[in-house]
Amino acid sequence: MRDLLRPDLKGQTPYGAPQLDVAVALNTNENSYAVPQEVVDAIVSAVAEVASGLNRYPDREFVRLREDLAAYLSATTGIGVSPDQVWAGNGSNEVLLHILQAFGGPDRVALGFTPAYSMHPIITRTTGTRWVDGGRGVDGAGAFDLDVSSAVAQVREHEPDIVFLCSPNNPTGTALGLDVVEAIYAAAPRAIVVVDEAYAEFAREGTPSALTLLEGRERLVVTRTMSKAFALAGGRLGYLAADAQLTQALRLVRLPYHLSAPTQAIACAALENAEALLATVELVKTQRDRIVADLAQMGLDPVSSDANFVLFGGLADERVTWQALLDRGILIRDVGLTHHLRVTAGTPRETGAFLEAMRSLATTHRQEQ
Ligand SMILES: *Cc1c(COP(=O)(O)O)cnc(C)c1O
Repeated sequence: MRDLLRPDLKGQTPYGAPQLDVAVALNTNENSYAVPQEVVDAIVSAVAEVASGLNRYPDREFVRLREDLAAYLSATTGIGVSPDQVWAGNGSNEVLLHILQAFGGPDRVALGFTPAYSMHPIITRTTGTRWVDGGRGVDGAGAFDLDVSSAVAQVREHEPDIVFLCSPNNPTGTALGLDVVEAIYAAAPRAIVVVDEAYAEFAREGTPSALTLLEGRERLVVTRTMSKAFALAGGRLGYLAADAQLTQALRLVRLPYHLSAPTQAIACAALENAEALLATVELVKTQRDRIVADLAQMGLDPVSSDANFVLFGGLADERVTWQALLDRGILIRDVGLTHHLRVTAGTPRETGAFLEAMRSLATTHRQEQ
């Protein structure tokens, strides 16, 4: 089989966050809170309504869902987003794939600034697009920040067709200043600039969304998902907002009827109940800030976060700590950064279990100063 595989895929490893049966799962940044019963009821009746029509293909244009997503973005950001600026897929991973299928490909280059979302290079490579690993600062104060001059220099050097930004950034947790997005957009005159805002709803007060930059920037794309704040990872619904002509181009590459009737019905029911679903966001942010404060107290090195997770450094051997936590029934994420691990903010009980375990491990697992 190896001989038959596309040469550029040989030796690549698939996405593989462990899915283990553990008491405390804090490894994939899901929302720990179950969908509330009132929303379950709304989803069940929405799916029941479309069930008898499943003999027909679903609305290929998912008109109602685009209207609902546009209304949600307009209401939460205060800028006007119209339904023809919105596109959706089975998770934001699929809308990212659509962007690469339409604007990437052989002879084209995508640039990202790592450490960032591990799926950006994987999706890029599946389309035969060349991935360029750009860097961000990793030492000292402001570790992992992406500064304007470094980003602009890298964009000028590589002349990418697509630039990936992630804000708040996974796995580091911090949001990007809009000055960085504006400068990169201006420095890359041919590039589609993608800002992955999967965690936007968790950002600290006063963190502006790149949606506010859309007006007049026809190459800018902002992606969002219902997998995190909306507690709907299993529903698989991600979306983007961009210029209407850009979303029109994505229709060339999507498979017909890619959003099933149940998917559309579930997402619309969830959006109708956005307030109930998003009620957990403040609870999660409280646990996130608790993790940062407590880990710092233990002499570890947490990065302040605008997301629902915390990256922390200061570990002698992150793999040993990861395993020690798993032995206690707590699954967090090894993101491949030496001395660091990433933990999702869960319920108070889950977060407490993690912090209690870390407190017992910290003195022996800490890196020598
Ligand atoms: C979790 C995550 C997503 C979500 O992907 P879906 O396909 O929508 O579930 C997207 N981007 C980043 C940076 C993420 O961490």
